[in-house]
Amino acid sequence: MIRMLLAICLFFSLSTEAQTLVESKILFGRTIGRQPYLDYGLGSDRLGGAKMTYLDTGILVQAVDSTIGRYKIQLSKNRTAWLQKANFQKVNSIKIEPYYLTSSFLINGDDKYDLVSINLDEKLPYTSIQQINPSRIVVDIFGATSNTNWVTHRTSAKEIKNVYHEQVEDDVFRVIIELKHKQHWGYSIYYEGKKLFIKVKRQPEDLSLENMKIAIDAGHGGNNPGASGISTKIVEKNYTLLIANQIEKALMEKEAIVFMTRRSDNNYSMLEREERIRDENVDFLISVHLNSSVREEVKGVSTYYRYIGFRPLTKYIQESMIKIDGLEDFGNIGSFNFALSGPTDYPNCLLEVAFLSNRDDEKLILSPEFHKQVAKQVVEGIKDWLKSCKEEND
Ligand SMILES: [Zn+2]
Repeated sequence: MIRMLLAICLFFSLSTEAQTLVESKILFGRTIGRQPYLDYGLGSDRLGGAKMTYLDTGILVQAVDSTIGRYKIQLSKNRTAWLQKANFQKVNSIKIEPYYLTSSFLINGDDKYDLVSINLDEKLPYTSIQQINPSRIVVDIFGATSNTNWVTHRTSAKEIKNVYHEQVEDDVFRVIIELKHKQHWGYSIYYEGKKLFIKVKRQPEDLSLENMKIAIDAGHGGNNPGASGISTKIVEKNYTLLIANQIEKALMEKEAIVFMTRRSDNNYSMLEREERIRDENVDFLISVHLNSSVREEVKGVSTYYRYIGFRPLTKYIQESMIKIDGLEDFGNIGSFNFALSGPTDYPNCLLEVAFLSNRDDEKLILSPEFHKQVAKQVVEGIKDWLKSCKEEND
Protein backbone atom coordinates (compact mmCIF):
# COMPACT_ATOMS: atom_id res chain seq x y z
CA MET A 1 0.00 0.00 0.00
CA ILE A 2 2.75 2.44 1.01
CA ARG A 3 4.76 1.47 -2.04
CA MET A 4 1.76 2.08 -4.24
CA LEU A 5 1.19 5.47 -2.64
CA LEU A 6 4.80 6.40 -3.30
CA ALA A 7 4.44 5.36 -6.90
CA ILE A 8 1.34 7.51 -7.25
CA CYS A 9 3.07 10.51 -5.65
CA LEU A 10 6.05 10.12 -7.97
CA PHE A 11 3.74 9.92 -10.95
CA PHE A 12 2.02 13.14 -9.96
CA SER A 13 5.19 15.05 -9.22
CA LEU A 14 6.53 14.12 -12.68
CA SER A 15 3.32 14.86 -14.49
CA THR A 16 2.74 18.32 -13.01
CA GLU A 17 5.79 19.73 -14.78
CA ALA A 18 6.99 21.04 -11.42
CA GLN A 19 10.66 21.71 -10.95
CA THR A 20 11.40 18.04 -11.66
CA LEU A 21 14.30 17.90 -14.06
CA VAL A 22 14.27 14.65 -15.95
CA GLU A 23 17.36 15.00 -18.13
CA SER A 24 20.59 16.89 -17.69
CA LYS A 25 22.87 17.26 -20.66
CA ILE A 26 23.99 20.18 -22.83
CA LEU A 27 22.48 20.18 -26.30
CA PHE A 28 22.83 22.64 -29.17
CA GLY A 29 19.87 23.21 -31.39
CA ARG A 30 17.97 25.69 -33.50
CA THR A 31 14.49 27.09 -33.05
CA ILE A 32 11.85 25.56 -35.33
CA GLY A 33 8.09 25.60 -35.82
CA ARG A 34 5.40 28.25 -35.85
CA GLN A 35 6.20 31.08 -33.44
CA PRO A 36 8.79 29.70 -31.04
CA TYR A 37 8.90 31.67 -27.80
CA LEU A 38 10.84 31.83 -24.55
CA ASP A 39 9.32 31.80 -21.08
CA TYR A 40 11.07 33.47 -18.15
CA GLY A 41 10.46 30.55 -15.83
CA LEU A 42 8.26 27.55 -15.24
CA GLY A 43 5.38 29.57 -13.81
CA SER A 44 2.00 29.13 -15.39
CA ASP A 45 -1.58 30.34 -15.18
CA ARG A 46 -4.77 29.95 -17.18
CA LEU A 47 -3.19 31.51 -20.28
CA GLY A 48 0.31 29.99 -19.92
CA GLY A 49 3.56 31.24 -18.36
CA ALA A 50 5.04 34.74 -18.59
CA LYS A 51 6.68 35.06 -21.99
CA MET A 52 10.05 36.73 -22.47
CA THR A 53 9.90 36.95 -26.24
CA TYR A 54 8.82 35.37 -29.48
CA LEU A 55 11.74 34.24 -31.64
CA ASP A 56 12.47 33.72 -35.29
CA THR A 57 13.27 30.19 -36.46
CA GLY A 58 16.81 28.91 -37.08
CA ILE A 59 18.24 30.63 -33.99
CA LEU A 60 21.12 28.87 -32.26
CA VAL A 61 20.22 27.93 -28.69
CA GLN A 62 22.00 25.96 -26.01
CA ALA A 63 19.86 23.67 -23.85
CA VAL A 64 21.51 23.08 -20.49
CA ASP A 65 18.69 21.33 -18.69
CA SER A 66 15.29 19.94 -19.32
CA THR A 67 11.92 19.29 -17.77
CA ILE A 68 8.79 17.72 -19.21
CA GLY A 69 8.05 19.51 -22.45
CA ARG A 70 10.67 22.22 -22.12
CA TYR A 71 14.38 22.92 -22.35
CA LYS A 72 16.23 25.39 -20.18
CA ILE A 73 18.14 27.65 -22.57
CA GLN A 74 21.37 29.38 -21.52
CA LEU A 75 21.05 32.75 -23.25
CA SER A 76 24.15 34.32 -21.78
CA LYS A 77 26.32 33.71 -18.75
CA ASN A 78 23.71 35.15 -16.39
CA ARG A 79 20.43 34.66 -18.24
CA THR A 80 18.35 31.58 -18.92
CA ALA A 81 14.86 31.00 -20.32
CA TRP A 82 12.60 28.07 -21.19
CA LEU A 83 11.77 26.87 -24.68
CA GLN A 84 9.15 24.32 -25.71
CA LYS A 85 10.81 21.10 -26.88
CA ALA A 86 8.57 21.18 -29.97
CA ASN A 87 10.38 24.40 -30.95
CA PHE A 88 13.88 22.92 -30.60
CA GLN A 89 15.72 20.93 -33.23
CA LYS A 90 18.99 19.39 -32.15
CA VAL A 91 22.02 20.08 -34.34
CA ASN A 92 24.58 17.31 -34.29
CA SER A 93 27.65 18.86 -35.80
CA ILE A 94 28.21 22.52 -35.18
CA LYS A 95 31.36 24.41 -34.34
CA ILE A 96 30.49 26.60 -31.37
CA GLU A 97 32.57 29.76 -31.14
CA PRO A 98 33.69 31.03 -27.73
CA TYR A 99 32.03 34.36 -28.63
CA TYR A 100 30.12 35.93 -31.50
CA LEU A 101 30.71 39.44 -32.75
CA THR A 102 28.45 42.23 -33.90
CA SER A 103 29.43 44.27 -36.92
CA SER A 104 28.16 47.38 -38.73
CA PHE A 105 24.56 48.68 -38.49
CA LEU A 106 22.41 50.31 -41.10
CA ILE A 107 19.33 52.38 -40.27
CA ASN A 108 17.18 53.21 -43.29
CA GLY A 109 13.55 53.18 -44.43
CA ASP A 110 11.15 52.26 -47.20
CA ASP A 111 7.71 53.77 -47.80
CA LYS A 112 6.09 52.44 -44.60
CA TYR A 113 8.76 51.12 -42.26
CA ASP A 114 12.11 52.03 -40.80
CA LEU A 115 14.67 49.27 -40.62
CA VAL A 116 17.62 48.65 -38.34
CA SER A 117 19.87 45.90 -39.69
CA ILE A 118 22.71 44.49 -37.66
CA ASN A 119 25.36 42.19 -39.06
CA LEU A 120 26.10 39.25 -36.76
CA ASP A 121 28.30 36.12 -36.92
CA GLU A 122 25.44 33.81 -36.00
CA LYS A 123 21.66 33.78 -35.58
CA LEU A 124 21.59 34.57 -31.87
CA PRO A 125 18.60 34.78 -29.52
CA TYR A 126 17.25 38.18 -28.55
CA THR A 127 14.56 39.79 -26.50
CA SER A 128 13.00 43.24 -26.67
CA ILE A 129 11.00 45.65 -24.56
CA GLN A 130 9.08 48.83 -25.23
CA GLN A 131 9.86 51.90 -23.17
CA ILE A 132 7.83 55.09 -22.91
CA ASN A 133 8.63 58.73 -22.06
CA PRO A 134 10.61 58.81 -24.29
CA SER A 135 9.46 55.96 -26.50
CA ARG A 136 12.20 53.48 -27.26
CA ILE A 137 12.61 49.88 -28.35
CA VAL A 138 15.38 48.12 -26.46
CA VAL A 139 16.72 44.91 -27.96
CA ASP A 140 19.14 42.61 -26.13
CA ILE A 141 21.14 40.18 -28.25
CA PHE A 142 22.46 37.24 -26.22
CA GLY A 143 25.91 35.78 -26.81
CA ALA A 144 27.04 38.84 -28.77
CA THR A 145 30.08 41.01 -28.11
CA SER A 146 30.48 44.39 -29.72
CA ASN A 147 32.68 44.85 -32.72
CA THR A 148 30.42 47.59 -34.07
CA ASN A 149 32.49 50.52 -35.24
CA TRP A 150 30.25 51.80 -38.01
CA VAL A 151 26.57 52.83 -37.69
CA THR A 152 25.02 54.39 -40.81
CA HIS A 153 21.80 56.36 -40.29
CA ARG A 154 20.09 57.38 -43.54
CA THR A 155 17.47 60.12 -43.90
CA SER A 156 15.06 57.54 -45.38
CA ALA A 157 14.49 56.45 -41.75
CA LYS A 158 11.64 58.71 -40.62
CA GLU A 159 10.45 57.29 -37.28
CA ILE A 160 13.78 56.28 -35.76
CA LYS A 161 15.44 59.26 -34.16
CA ASN A 162 18.60 57.64 -32.81
CA VAL A 163 20.15 54.20 -32.50
CA TYR A 164 22.95 53.44 -30.10
CA HIS A 165 24.28 50.41 -28.31
CA GLU A 166 25.84 49.29 -25.09
CA GLN A 167 27.65 46.13 -24.00
CA VAL A 168 25.64 45.55 -20.81
CA GLU A 169 27.39 42.28 -19.97
CA ASP A 170 30.34 40.50 -21.59
CA ASP A 171 27.91 38.51 -23.71
CA VAL A 172 24.82 40.73 -23.84
CA PHE A 173 24.71 43.42 -26.51
CA ARG A 174 21.97 46.02 -26.13
CA VAL A 175 20.57 48.10 -28.99
CA ILE A 176 18.53 51.17 -28.07
CA ILE A 177 16.20 52.58 -30.73
CA GLU A 178 14.73 56.01 -29.98
CA LEU A 179 11.47 56.82 -31.72
CA LYS A 180 10.25 60.18 -32.91
CA HIS A 181 6.64 59.83 -31.74
CA LYS A 182 5.36 59.02 -28.28
CA GLN A 183 3.09 56.28 -29.65
CA HIS A 184 4.58 52.88 -30.51
CA TRP A 185 3.12 51.52 -33.77
CA GLY A 186 4.84 48.16 -33.51
CA TYR A 187 7.92 46.37 -34.73
CA SER A 188 9.06 42.93 -35.85
CA ILE A 189 12.42 41.28 -35.24
CA TYR A 190 13.69 38.63 -37.65
CA TYR A 191 16.78 37.35 -39.43
CA GLU A 192 17.70 37.32 -43.08
CA GLY A 193 20.73 35.05 -43.17
CA LYS A 194 22.76 36.12 -40.17
CA LYS A 195 21.64 39.71 -40.39
CA LEU A 196 19.22 40.76 -37.65
CA PHE A 197 16.43 43.11 -38.72
CA ILE A 198 14.27 45.27 -36.50
CA LYS A 199 11.46 46.58 -38.69
CA VAL A 200 9.76 49.54 -37.06
CA LYS A 201 6.29 50.64 -38.15
CA ARG A 202 6.14 54.35 -38.77
CA GLN A 203 3.35 56.46 -37.36
CA PRO A 204 0.93 57.14 -40.26
CA GLU A 205 1.16 60.76 -41.40
CA ASP A 206 -2.60 60.95 -41.79
CA LEU A 207 -4.11 59.95 -38.45
CA SER A 208 -7.74 60.14 -39.53
CA LEU A 209 -9.93 57.06 -39.20
CA GLU A 210 -10.42 56.76 -42.95
CA ASN A 211 -6.70 56.20 -43.31
CA MET A 212 -6.68 53.28 -40.84
CA LYS A 213 -6.86 49.56 -41.44
CA ILE A 214 -8.25 47.95 -38.30
CA ALA A 215 -8.56 44.27 -37.38
CA ILE A 216 -11.64 43.35 -35.35
CA ASP A 217 -11.53 39.94 -33.74
CA ALA A 218 -14.74 38.33 -32.47
CA GLY A 219 -13.54 36.03 -29.69
CA HIS A 220 -14.20 32.26 -29.76
CA GLY A 221 -16.47 30.56 -32.35
CA GLY A 222 -17.31 27.09 -33.61
CA ASN A 223 -16.54 24.40 -31.05
CA ASN A 224 -15.06 27.04 -28.72
CA PRO A 225 -18.13 28.76 -27.24
CA GLY A 226 -16.35 30.74 -24.48
CA ALA A 227 -18.28 31.73 -21.35
CA SER A 228 -22.02 31.41 -20.91
CA GLY A 229 -24.67 33.59 -19.29
CA ILE A 230 -25.66 33.33 -15.64
CA SER A 231 -29.43 33.44 -15.99
CA THR A 232 -29.84 32.65 -19.69
CA LYS A 233 -27.78 30.07 -21.56
CA ILE A 234 -26.40 32.55 -24.10
CA VAL A 235 -22.82 31.84 -25.17
CA GLU A 236 -19.95 34.28 -25.56
CA LYS A 237 -19.05 33.36 -29.15
CA ASN A 238 -22.44 34.55 -30.52
CA TYR A 239 -22.40 37.87 -28.69
CA THR A 240 -18.77 38.72 -29.47
CA LEU A 241 -19.70 38.35 -33.14
CA LEU A 242 -22.82 40.52 -32.81
CA ILE A 243 -20.80 43.25 -31.07
CA ALA A 244 -17.85 42.93 -33.49
CA ASN A 245 -20.30 43.32 -36.41
CA GLN A 246 -21.59 46.56 -34.91
CA ILE A 247 -18.04 47.84 -34.40
CA GLU A 248 -17.25 47.02 -38.03
CA LYS A 249 -20.36 48.89 -39.17
CA ALA A 250 -19.54 51.95 -37.05
CA LEU A 251 -15.93 52.01 -38.33
CA MET A 252 -17.01 51.62 -41.94
CA GLU A 253 -19.36 54.56 -41.53
CA LYS A 254 -16.20 56.53 -40.76
CA GLU A 255 -14.60 55.03 -43.88
CA ALA A 256 -12.00 52.97 -42.04
CA ILE A 257 -10.92 49.68 -43.63
CA VAL A 258 -11.87 46.74 -41.41
CA PHE A 259 -10.50 43.22 -41.39
CA MET A 260 -12.71 40.77 -39.48
CA THR A 261 -10.94 37.63 -38.21
CA ARG A 262 -14.26 35.78 -38.49
CA ARG A 263 -17.71 36.55 -39.86
CA SER A 264 -19.44 33.31 -39.04
CA ASP A 265 -19.47 30.61 -36.38
CA ASN A 266 -16.02 29.16 -37.02
CA ASN A 267 -13.17 28.69 -34.62
CA TYR A 268 -9.79 29.82 -35.85
CA SER A 269 -6.97 29.01 -33.47
CA MET A 270 -5.11 31.91 -31.84
CA LEU A 271 -2.13 31.17 -34.06
CA GLU A 272 -4.28 31.30 -37.20
CA ARG A 273 -5.85 34.56 -36.08
CA GLU A 274 -2.43 36.07 -35.40
CA GLU A 275 -1.01 34.99 -38.74
CA ARG A 276 -4.00 36.29 -40.67
CA ILE A 277 -3.92 39.63 -38.84
CA ARG A 278 -0.20 39.97 -39.50
CA ASP A 279 -0.65 39.14 -43.21
CA GLU A 280 -3.24 41.89 -43.49
CA ASN A 281 -0.75 44.55 -42.34
CA VAL A 282 -3.32 46.24 -40.14
CA ASP A 283 -2.59 49.40 -38.19
CA PHE A 284 -4.06 47.99 -34.98
CA LEU A 285 -6.30 45.27 -33.53
CA ILE A 286 -9.29 45.14 -31.22
CA SER A 287 -10.27 41.72 -29.91
CA VAL A 288 -13.78 41.49 -28.49
CA HIS A 289 -14.59 39.13 -25.62
CA LEU A 290 -17.09 38.85 -22.79
CA ASN A 291 -15.80 38.26 -19.30
CA SER A 292 -16.75 35.71 -16.68
CA SER A 293 -15.96 35.35 -13.00
CA VAL A 294 -16.73 32.81 -10.31
CA ARG A 295 -17.77 35.79 -8.21
CA GLU A 296 -21.21 36.76 -9.42
CA GLU A 297 -20.98 40.34 -8.12
CA VAL A 298 -17.96 41.21 -10.31
CA LYS A 299 -18.98 43.37 -13.26
CA GLY A 300 -17.94 46.05 -15.69
CA VAL A 301 -15.83 46.68 -18.74
CA SER A 302 -12.07 46.08 -18.92
CA THR A 303 -9.36 46.51 -21.54
CA TYR A 304 -6.03 44.71 -21.62
CA TYR A 305 -2.56 45.17 -23.07
CA ARG A 306 0.71 43.33 -22.77
CA TYR A 307 3.30 45.97 -23.71
CA ILE A 308 3.39 49.41 -22.14
CA GLY A 309 3.84 51.09 -25.54
CA PHE A 310 0.46 49.75 -26.61
CA ARG A 311 -1.33 50.87 -23.45
CA PRO A 312 -2.72 54.18 -24.79
CA LEU A 313 -5.16 52.51 -27.25
CA THR A 314 -6.56 50.35 -24.43
CA LYS A 315 -6.72 53.27 -22.01
CA TYR A 316 -8.65 55.52 -24.40
CA ILE A 317 -11.10 52.75 -25.25
CA GLN A 318 -11.65 52.02 -21.54
CA GLU A 319 -12.24 55.71 -20.78
CA SER A 320 -14.75 55.91 -23.61
CA MET A 321 -16.55 52.67 -22.73
CA ILE A 322 -17.28 53.65 -19.13
CA LYS A 323 -19.45 56.50 -20.44
CA ILE A 324 -22.08 53.87 -21.27
CA ASP A 325 -24.92 53.96 -18.73
CA GLY A 326 -24.77 51.07 -16.31
CA LEU A 327 -21.33 49.86 -17.36
CA GLU A 328 -18.82 49.95 -14.52
CA ASP A 329 -15.06 50.42 -14.72
CA PHE A 330 -13.45 47.04 -14.00
CA GLY A 331 -10.07 48.41 -15.06
CA ASN A 332 -7.31 48.75 -17.61
CA ILE A 333 -4.98 45.80 -17.18
CA GLY A 334 -1.36 45.40 -18.27
CA SER A 335 1.19 42.58 -18.71
CA PHE A 336 -1.72 40.42 -19.76
CA ASN A 337 -0.87 37.06 -21.25
CA PHE A 338 -3.61 36.85 -23.88
CA ALA A 339 -2.30 35.30 -27.11
CA LEU A 340 -3.47 38.15 -29.36
CA SER A 341 -1.79 40.70 -27.07
CA GLY A 342 1.53 38.92 -27.69
CA PRO A 343 2.58 40.24 -31.10
CA THR A 344 4.72 43.38 -31.04
CA ASP A 345 3.89 44.11 -34.69
CA TYR A 346 0.91 46.45 -34.14
CA PRO A 347 -0.92 48.09 -31.22
CA ASN A 348 -3.66 45.85 -29.90
CA CYS A 349 -6.46 45.97 -27.37
CA LEU A 350 -8.37 43.14 -25.76
CA LEU A 351 -11.83 44.47 -24.90
CA GLU A 352 -13.78 42.43 -22.34
CA VAL A 353 -17.05 44.25 -22.82
CA ALA A 354 -18.90 43.08 -19.67
CA PHE A 355 -19.38 40.02 -17.46
CA LEU A 356 -21.69 37.22 -18.57
CA SER A 357 -21.48 35.95 -15.00
CA ASN A 358 -23.14 39.09 -13.61
CA ARG A 359 -26.91 39.54 -13.90
CA ASP A 360 -26.84 43.29 -14.64
CA ASP A 361 -24.09 42.95 -17.23
CA GLU A 362 -25.83 39.98 -18.83
CA LYS A 363 -28.95 42.12 -19.37
CA LEU A 364 -26.80 44.72 -21.14
CA ILE A 365 -25.14 42.03 -23.29
CA LEU A 366 -28.56 40.78 -24.41
CA SER A 367 -29.59 44.23 -25.68
CA PRO A 368 -28.96 45.07 -29.38
CA GLU A 369 -29.05 48.74 -28.39
CA PHE A 370 -26.09 48.11 -26.06
CA HIS A 371 -24.10 46.55 -28.93
CA LYS A 372 -24.55 49.79 -30.87
CA GLN A 373 -23.49 51.86 -27.85
CA VAL A 374 -20.37 49.72 -27.47
CA ALA A 375 -19.54 50.22 -31.15
CA LYS A 376 -20.03 53.98 -30.84
CA GLN A 377 -17.83 54.24 -27.74
CA VAL A 378 -15.10 52.08 -29.29
CA VAL A 379 -15.01 54.42 -32.29
CA GLU A 380 -14.92 57.46 -29.96
CA GLY A 381 -12.08 55.87 -27.97
CA ILE A 382 -10.09 55.19 -31.14
CA LYS A 383 -10.61 58.78 -32.29
CA ASP A 384 -9.40 60.16 -28.94
CA TRP A 385 -6.37 57.86 -29.11
CA LEU A 386 -5.51 58.91 -32.66
CA LYS A 387 -5.70 62.56 -31.59
CA SER A 388 -3.23 61.86 -28.78
CA CYS A 389 -0.75 60.24 -31.20
CA LYS A 390 0.28 63.61 -32.64
CA GLU A 391 2.59 64.16 -29.68
CA GLU A 392 6.28 63.78 -30.35
CA ASN A 393 9.06 62.98 -27.91
CA ASP A 394 11.00 66.05 -26.78
ZN1 LIG B 1 -13.45 35.07 -24.22
